[in-house]
Amino acid sequence: MTKILIVGAGIAGLTAALRLHALGIDVELFEAAHEVRELGVGINLQPNAVKELTNLGLLGKLSEIGSSMEELRYHNKHGQEIWSEPRGLKAGYLWPQFGISRGRFQGLLLKAVKERLGEDAVRTGHYFHRLEQTGDLVTAEFRESRDGKPVGTYTGDILIAADGIHSAVRRFFYPQEAAPRFAGQIMWRGVTDAKTFLDNHTMFMAGHRQQKVVFYPMAGPLTHPDSTQINFVAEDSVDPNKPMPQEEWNRVCTIDEVAPRFEKWAYDWCDVPGIIRNAKQLYVFPKVDRDRIPKWTFGRVTMIGDAAHAMHPAGSSGASQAIVDVRALALAFKTQRDAVAAIDFYEKLRLEEVYSLVKLNREKMGPEWVMVLAEQLAPGGFKHIHDVIPKEDLNRIADDYKKAAGFYPAQVNALDPLVDIDPRLL
Ligand SMILES: Cc1cc2nc3c(=O)[nH]c(=O)nc-3n(C[C@H](O)[C@H](O)[C@H](O)COP(=O)(O)OP(=O)(O)OC[C@H]3O[C@@H](n4cnc5c(N)ncnc54)[C@H](O)[C@@H]3O)c2cc1C
Repeated sequence: MTKILIVGAGIAGLTAALRLHALGIDVELFEAAHEVRELGVGINLQPNAVKELTNLGLLGKLSEIGSSMEELRYHNKHGQEIWSEPRGLKAGYLWPQFGISRGRFQGLLLKAVKERLGEDAVRTGHYFHRLEQTGDLVTAEFRESRDGKPVGTYTGDILIAADGIHSAVRRFFYPQEAAPRFAGQIMWRGVTDAKTFLDNHTMFMAGHRQQKVVFYPMAGPLTHPDSTQINFVAEDSVDPNKPMPQEEWNRVCTIDEVAPRFEKWAYDWCDVPGIIRNAKQLYVFPKVDRDRIPKWTFGRVTMIGDAAHAMHPAGSSGASQAIVDVRALALAFKTQRDAVAAIDFYEKLRLEEVYSLVKLNREKMGPEWVMVLAEQLAPGGFKHIHDVIPKEDLNRIADDYKKAAGFYPAQVNALDPLVDIDPRLL
């Protein structure tokens, strides 16, 4: 039986473990943290990711903890609507789009891994240190993440790096690579229990390249029955001469650091500054991505998720693309003659495709380009958006992004009998 070592029990690693296990592969996971805690605020799962999670039998559980997104709207900083479109089932996809707590989603994946692979499938406190490939095997050495003491050496046929934006496996192969690239903006992420905005199933973004907000409802335990959990990201440009804040997902900051920057963004349909001010907790993270690397696969080792292609969070694609990697892995293991050929094929399926998205997010803010254009052409606002940007252009930008990210409805709804379950039969 093929044995695969997966480094990192985040979104990509846990999803890959479930998928490969379902293919009859023996999988063992190694996680640097001593405990996999439910951390992070909201993420979006696009229908192409929910399709993969449905193939893993997780649609029912996701529906219990996620909020289905039915509309997406882009606004200028004055709150005027630039573009809106239906999303998820309302847009004709066979699968919904979810706004979901990253932590609860990770918890759901971890529970499924423990139930299906066994309680001991994830070795925590194991920080990847180095690896060696000899003959038909790959051997990885792990260290204790606090004191750096060796904790074990493990051998498998294949190693998959799913250890996130600071991947130590990637660093092993690219020791000279520069640190993640700072875009010049800081992202403040938070969750507020508040009266919902619009219809409680709408996600909106407002602003432009230098300053923007992203808001969406995210189901979860509520403090009051008539309120919902609103996830937000508030992003603003900072002095480029000052050092970039450290990239730590759980770095907490004060509300006064961010709220005054958005004081004028109170719209009659959503009180942006009020919701920011009432956040239970705020986390700060610099907007970064990583440059392209020539290849991810080295013999018996490959990379998935942020370890391979960390991107700007434009178009709500980061977590979904990590899950789409797993679909490609499944297709590769189903069709290739052996495991080494499979990870080679996985890279062929994904590398160019995903790097075109990384580029689009970096250069044009993905589909949020319509907000950049509106600010350039009408910074003071507009009477009607189509006087500023023709409807066909708005439509094309939205469609082109969906095609690049692999979630154009016709692309997603096409079922591949090799790997897909038809959700209409569930
Ligand atoms: C704690 C945390 C909170 C986050 N919060 C948000 C958020 O609020 N919003 C958002 O959009 N994105 C968030 N992200 C990032 C988001 O999860 C990813 O961008 C995306 O889901 C892709 O997932 P991934 O599995 O590739 O990476 P990640 O989800 O980052 O998972 C990587 C995993 O690898 C582990 N790891 C790292 N180094 C090593 C090593 N050397 N050896 C072994 N294990 C290692 C990490 O502890 C982590 O569990 C967060 C990530 C983390 C780790």
